[in-house]
Amino acid sequence: MSSTAQIGVTGLAVMGSNLARNFARNGFTVAVHNRTAAKTRALVAEHGDEGTFVAAESAKEFVDALERPRRLIVMVKAGEPTDAVIDEFAPLLEPGDVIIDGGNAHFEDTRRRERQLRERGIHFVGVGISGGEEGALLGPSIMPGGSAESYASLGPLLEKIAAKAADGTPCTSHIGPDGAGHFVKMVHNGIEYADMQLIAEAYHLLRDVAGYSPARIAETFRAWNRGRLDSYLIEITAEVLAHTDAATGRPFVDVVADAAEQKGTGRWTVQIALDLGVPVSGIAEAVFARSVSGHAALRAASAELAGPRATPLSGAEADAFAAQVEQALYASKIVSYTQGFHQIRAGSEQYEWGVDPGAVAALWRGGCIIRAAFLDRIKAAYDARPDLPSLLSDAGFAGEIAAAQDDWRAVLVAAVRQGIPVPAFAASLAYYDALRAERLPAALTQGQRDFFGAHTYRRTDREGSFHTLWSGDR
Ligand code: NAP
Repeated sequence: MSSTAQIGVTGLAVMGSNLARNFARNGFTVAVHNRTAAKTRALVAEHGDEGTFVAAESAKEFVDALERPRRLIVMVKAGEPTDAVIDEFAPLLEPGDVIIDGGNAHFEDTRRRERQLRERGIHFVGVGISGGEEGALLGPSIMPGGSAESYASLGPLLEKIAAKAADGTPCTSHIGPDGAGHFVKMVHNGIEYADMQLIAEAYHLLRDVAGYSPARIAETFRAWNRGRLDSYLIEITAEVLAHTDAATGRPFVDVVADAAEQKGTGRWTVQIALDLGVPVSGIAEAVFARSVSGHAALRAASAELAGPRATPLSGAEADAFAAQVEQALYASKIVSYTQGFHQIRAGSEQYEWGVDPGAVAALWRGGCIIRAAFLDRIKAAYDARPDLPSLLSDAGFAGEIAAAQDDWRAVLVAAVRQGIPVPAFAASLAYYDALRAERLPAALTQGQRDFFGAHTYRRTDREGSFHTLWSGDR
């Protein structure tokens, strides 16, 4: 077999097939391979006319089909299957070749794999890919880690197949070494969890406090999508809410079981944030909200607990409340991204990745699930001040939150009074108030710690570490 393929894809389930087709449609010759060869044959039979595919039945055939240095993308199930595939291919490769893992790997696994393959002279690039199956085919947002040298070889291909932002810029750029790409993809998914939960809370408030029907809420979201909340998630929320169940004629949202599932990347974001000491409280509440929803027995056992039931508003009052919810949603969304970008900065410092937050905002502007108009503003904020301590320190965002906060607080008050759980809204506001507080009760916490554990404390009026001889000391 002649070595003509510029890129190879192994693992031809939905993501791998669509990615291979995307490369082919963009003029690249693509070697394709799958453990079960029938899938390789099926891909070429169904989509062979979209471009040039080289079907490989064996690992050796696949590797032989690739131009050197070889670039092969692994799109198999994350975890052990990825290690199995790497173990199968690595012995067939040569120094300078590049293995790209496009699966949803944990960034620590990517760091380990990169280290092991580097010893053999092989580049290993962990790439976060967002956009689901449609994105893989039509243009995803791509977050590549790995060495700068590997990006020099791989980048031009990725830039071709990636989504393009409204200004035409490809939604990909080199994030940083080893696991940086998968880390940033992990935080992307954490922000996605928070965004979805905030939208869900806004829906809950519009339904039970404003008294809107799902169709009316769909209209409201459509209107919001024409403003500063313009984003993929708001757009699809309107679609979901406008959808009618064919079997019953009822709103689709009313026939779906209210137990949210998760695959784990939101949980990783929170676990790593805890390790790094980064307060991602909005993301954490979003993960816990899915968890609470799934505890059917606990919810059934708690259904009779005392508390208010919402009394829906009507007319102009309802519409005024809906406008306040938009303010609360926007302000909370700014906080979610603030927390996510803090985690990216902390990860970058911990692992010495040198991640450019403005570049991350730029490549999330198209293709990915959290694409949103306001990412242009986040990019601009970091471009203007790369050392911005927090998105909330940007005058533009700070000003918007200042303008939104009366309504944000009013929405929280209404939710609390009427017994609507809004954990992500509440956590976002608490984070904001904690950051701006002149004094936090952490001073008392330090006193308690010194009392029971002689953990010492620092003082406001002099340097050093202090311990008080408490009368309760034993
Ligand atoms: P998937 O269901 O996660 O994986 C199926 C693929 O893995 C098949 O090609 C399968 O081969 C192969 N595979 C499984 N175990 C293997 C092993 N031990 N050795 C060799 N191959 C093995 O497929 P997917 O949904 O297309 O996702 C692929 C990757 O992309 C995953 O890591 C996923 O997390 C990530 N991802 C998915 C999405 C999404 O929206 N679905 C988005 C971004 C990233 P056989 O056909 O032989 O079984």
